[in-house]
Amino acid sequence: MPSSPFPLPPGAAIGIVGGGQLGRMMALAAARLGFDVVILTPDAGSPAGRVAMREIVGAYDDPVALATLAAACPVVTFEFENIPADALAALQAHGAVAAPPAQALAVSQDRLAEKAFLNAAGLTTAPFAAIDREDDIPAALERLGVPALLKTRREGYDGKGQAWIASPDAGAAALHGLGGRPCVLEGKVAFHREISVIAARGRDDAFCAYPVGENHHEGGVLRRSLAPAPGWRTDQPRAEAIARRILEALDYVGVIGVELFQLADGALVVNEFAPRVHNTGHWTLDGCEVDQFEQHIRAVAGWPLGPTAPLAAVEMTNLLGVEAEAWQALAGDRTARLWLYGKRGSAPGRKMGHVNRLRPLP
Ligand code: AMP
Repeated sequence: MPSSPFPLPPGAAIGIVGGGQLGRMMALAAARLGFDVVILTPDAGSPAGRVAMREIVGAYDDPVALATLAAACPVVTFEFENIPADALAALQAHGAVAAPPAQALAVSQDRLAEKAFLNAAGLTTAPFAAIDREDDIPAALERLGVPALLKTRREGYDGKGQAWIASPDAGAAALHGLGGRPCVLEGKVAFHREISVIAARGRDDAFCAYPVGENHHEGGVLRRSLAPAPGWRTDQPRAEAIARRILEALDYVGVIGVELFQLADGALVVNEFAPRVHNTGHWTLDGCEVDQFEQHIRAVAGWPLGPTAPLAAVEMTNLLGVEAEAWQALAGDRTARLWLYGKRGSAPGRKMGHVNRLRPLP
């Protein structure tokens, strides 16, 4: 039995699969704690790779790239959840400890498995039905009513891979529009607001959570988060209990983002979770004692979790596409703390950076 690498000492290397902004901010946090970071990315010169010690360029299922990453890093983590299961197995076969665990990635990759998991854990989700073929739609719409939201089971993000069905005869066209892929149909949740909780679990089973934030989306993409959310002290215990249940059921290590719908009576319905640091947690960079990126690195490295207390309230605004071109004005705005991701190409809706504006705590 090899001896445990934990707690991972400063100077050790941590691998991150994925080269985007989440990997970049994780790498910066890891560097601050004295770790070396190795990024695996298909794209040379990635935002994360440019702040890391080393960038391995290869596909996420490239056996040589995975073996190289595992040889360089006793611990490997992820900046996104759509990692092929085989890639994870390959990393582990080469001796790397992967965190979060494979089960967390597998469940979150499939909206149907995710909802079944959440319900089995005793948590409320939107009512849903599996849609494998067109014939499944009429009975599902009959049960869930319209409008209902059709989502691809896999690979949807930022509102992509989703279509509202407004009338009972519009189901087939919606499925066709999503490429006829296996889907899940969700009943519409008449939510009062959307909130999220960022939480973490350590290798010693310790748990912590940040104050819930209130999130505003435009066109399926997160536009703004206000955190701690107005009235957060009322919602915090229930949101934390939900996050804790998910983390424990998955025997999780690392940071998780749990998106919740809040109903008018205050009840919380779980929309989905992301087994990683989360856009709705970017406010913690300037608003909390230990931010979500450092927290994730602490957890996967087997360090004690850090304090999550808010030092200020934050309004976090994503800079999408050309909005980041206003960097000079933002740099001169004394109310704005500016985070830019170093992406080399802009596209409409692409997350290029964010701004945190500090407010007094509610
Ligand atoms: P998702 O990709 O599942 O996070 O969905 C993107 C956005 O669509 C959410 O943030 C909600 O604003 C909305 N949405 C998703 N599912 C539902 C639902 N079942 N009922 C109402 N709105 C939803």
